[in-house]
Amino acid sequence: MKEKGQIFVITAPSGAGKTTIIKNILEKDVGGIGYSISHTTRKPRKGESHGLHYYFVDRENFERMIEAHEFVEWAVVYDQLYGTSISSINRELSSGKDLLMDVDIQGSQEIKRQFPDSLSIFILPPSLDILKERLQKRSPNDKMNIDLRLKKAAEEIQRCRDYDFIIINDDLKKAIKEIEAIIVAQRANKNRRLPLIKKMFRL
Ligand code: ADP
Ligand code: 5GP
Repeated sequence: MKEKGQIFVITAPSGAGKTTIIKNILEKDVGGIGYSISHTTRKPRKGESHGLHYYFVDRENFERMIEAHEFVEWAVVYDQLYGTSISSINRELSSGKDLLMDVDIQGSQEIKRQFPDSLSIFILPPSLDILKERLQKRSPNDKMNIDLRLKKAAEEIQRCRDYDFIIINDDLKKAIKEIEAIIVAQRANKNRRLPLIKKMFRL
């Protein structure tokens, strides 16, 4: 008998470091935590692969999935479509794993509505100047897109108060440790533990 998996939704302005943080957590927490792989119409960046970072699909396929009600949520972000499929969530949760999700603000609101027990974490960069540097380092030839992402970041940061936890990603190791601490602490939360404990001790 296993405890029910916990959903952790991670949201951050683009470039704040959530992909880097999530990758580290998944590598360390071998087996105990899964990742919901989203679908997107945006093109892969250098180093990204289909079925690992995203399912990269064209607009036609994405729209077909919307019509077939295959998404838990989907949104338009920076002029591209992004969505969480029902199957990507179920695959991990049904095997008793916790689940990390990387979605934007619209997606995190929708996940909280549909899964009220989910926990939300907002990652902040140390400053907007450092965010700009990180975006430029990641995609040096994409000035227009960087400007769009920076403009949106300033608005998104205003919303951090709506999240259960706020992490400042200045020192990467410290940020990872803080999120791991949240995950570990949540595994001992009584709401999660009690159903199993009741069975074990006939409470
Ligand atoms: P996001 O997924 O939030 O868009 P990424 O994880 O792709 O952001 O990070 C954006 C860039 O910033 C990457 O080049 C990454 O290596 C770098 N980065 C992430 N966290 C830190 C950090 N704490 N200090 C310095 N650079 C970082
Ligand atoms: P990027 O293009 O940098 O990988 O992601 C851009 C934005 O899309 C980020 O804010 C990321 O969290 C968001 N995103 C990624 N996948 C999903 C998803 O499935 N649903 C929603 N709503 N947003 C997503």
